[in-house]
Amino acid sequence: MRQAQQRQARRQELIDCHDCGNGVSFSAVTCPHCGSTEPAGPVVQSRRELRRLRIEAANDRRLVVVTTLCAGLGTLYGAVMGAGGLASGWTALFYGFVGAVIGVPAAFVINISRSLFD
Ligand SMILES: [Zn+2]
Repeated sequence: MRQAQQRQARRQELIDCHDCGNGVSFSAVTCPHCGSTEPAGPVVQSRRELRRLRIEAANDRRLVVVTTLCAGLGTLYGAVMGAGGLASGWTALFYGFVGAVIGVPAAFVINISRSLFD
């Protein structure tokens, strides 16, 4: 009986209500059986989960910082190397863009290597 319930749950994308154990639609905001407002359970369930969320938040911040840094350096480089005037502005814009394009995968690599050695 229990197994049959679980099979059905998978097929209809139901989850077991955290509070009463009845099947609840994954997207349901409240449980139709017991009225629980968190049928999927607390968002943060364990210290391990908390740690993972903290690492992800740090990774997001690093992504923004590294990308901004690369874009800024690119813009600076373009402004210095540019011919001056309007052309210099376009060169700065171009190198800023190149910097951002390089910065995203660079931050991504940093994030992966950090999560491996953490
Ligand atoms: Zn319930």
